[in-house]
Amino acid sequence: MSIKDRKSRNVYKPQMIIRLPDYPEYNHFTDIMRETYDVIIAHNTDEMIELVMGPREHLACIVVDAKRGIEMNFDMHKKMKDDMRFVSVPTVVLARKPSREDMLTCLREGVSDYIVLPDEDELVNLRVNNAIRSKDSATFAEIENMLTQLPSNIYLKDAKGRYVFATHYWHHLDDDGDFKWTIRGKTDIDIRKDKENAKLAYDADQRIIQTGVGTNYIIEEKSDGKTEYLELIKRPVFDNNGNVSGIIGLINDVTEQQLMKMDLEEKSKHDRLTGLYNKATCEDIIRAALLSSRKNDAHAIMLIDADKFKNINDTYGHTAGDKVLEQIGSVISDIFKGMDICGRFGGDEFLVLLKNVNSREDLTTLTEDLRNALKERIKDEVYAKDVSLSIGIALFPKHGKTFLELLGAADKALYYVKDHGRDGMYIYQS
Ligand code: GH3
Ligand code: MG
Repeated sequence: MSIKDRKSRNVYKPQMIIRLPDYPEYNHFTDIMRETYDVIIAHNTDEMIELVMGPREHLACIVVDAKRGIEMNFDMHKKMKDDMRFVSVPTVVLARKPSREDMLTCLREGVSDYIVLPDEDELVNLRVNNAIRSKDSATFAEIENMLTQLPSNIYLKDAKGRYVFATHYWHHLDDDGDFKWTIRGKTDIDIRKDKENAKLAYDADQRIIQTGVGTNYIIEEKSDGKTEYLELIKRPVFDNNGNVSGIIGLINDVTEQQLMKMDLEEKSKHDRLTGLYNKATCEDIIRAALLSSRKNDAHAIMLIDADKFKNINDTYGHTAGDKVLEQIGSVISDIFKGMDICGRFGGDEFLVLLKNVNSREDLTTLTEDLRNALKERIKDEVYAKDVSLSIGIALFPKHGKTFLELLGAADKALYYVKDHGRDGMYIYQS
């Protein structure tokens, strides 16, 4: 929604409900009020109650004359005091003759002002305005206090991104431990230790002020060796002319949810049994690595398949088969480290991208290491003699530049090993 659209929505005249007897001073008062307020006249007490208690928005003030107010014992006023909908609606009392006693009674009852008419228009206007504003600001403090009870930090900033209030002071503010200073009038850059996030907040504020469009984002906060994630929800506040007059914001601690989400995301990339990357992730990462490879890079794709694995399952059971796969997986992650990318590519098939391979001898050594490490790992198992690996290798860029070309070549190399007695390795020959 553009600022212009907002403008038309926000123009309204606050309502004023008036119940006054028919005297020229009071009629004149009503006329001058009509310039600023949507004046609603109540003709009797019942109508007054009906008007006030009925559904309405933007009720700014109620005006009665002192005599009737006192006669009614301020019943209406008392009713409103008990009703939370009216916490910010003041009652203003008018009189035609000053009476110190009446004034005392009215003010004791909690009315906001006692104005004797006739008086200068400007003075009357100012006093009514002040009655409304002072009631408003008392409520503002009350609301601020109520908001403090929520675990979220709720804050308001002005049109320059300076805090007007904040219900909580987060510990990453630049303080000595006890917040003796006030956040009011300061920007994030002024007060935060985490300068990078402070800059992010400041820039987001400036964008909201310029565009009138709110934003939501999550930041990572590191302090005292602890990481927390905070969700920020920021919306512009508009004045009656549709201009951005400030920013209202909410900060929620979403560390628990964020860690859970990250954990789930991480888990979805991995194979549950072996902890290696699953097929899709391993393929994505290898594709990306190949795409960003330079002309002189020399990589190798290695397809590793367990020999006669069906027999392991058939002879020792599926659980034992799972254990073998787990052991193969753990040996693969022990042998290939750092830049290498390892994944479980299918049932008993594993895929590795070895980066920056210097020579064929290196490949021979590595595959020997892998097969020996596996033998060592399973030497005490009942199936020790029945487990072996066949490995097919293709070289980048010699045997292909794309993932599929290399996989095809590695697969052919693997089947060469399978056809020649298994338990060995072979580098593709074109
Ligand atoms: P080859 O030497 O030709 O590879 O013979 P093989 O028996 O290993 O044949 P293949 O690779 O085609 O068979 C793989 C078997 O792995 C088939 C399937 O029952 C088994 N398998 C696949 N996934 C799992 C798993 O998660 N756990 C267990 N225990 N077995 C699995
Ligand atoms: Mg197999």
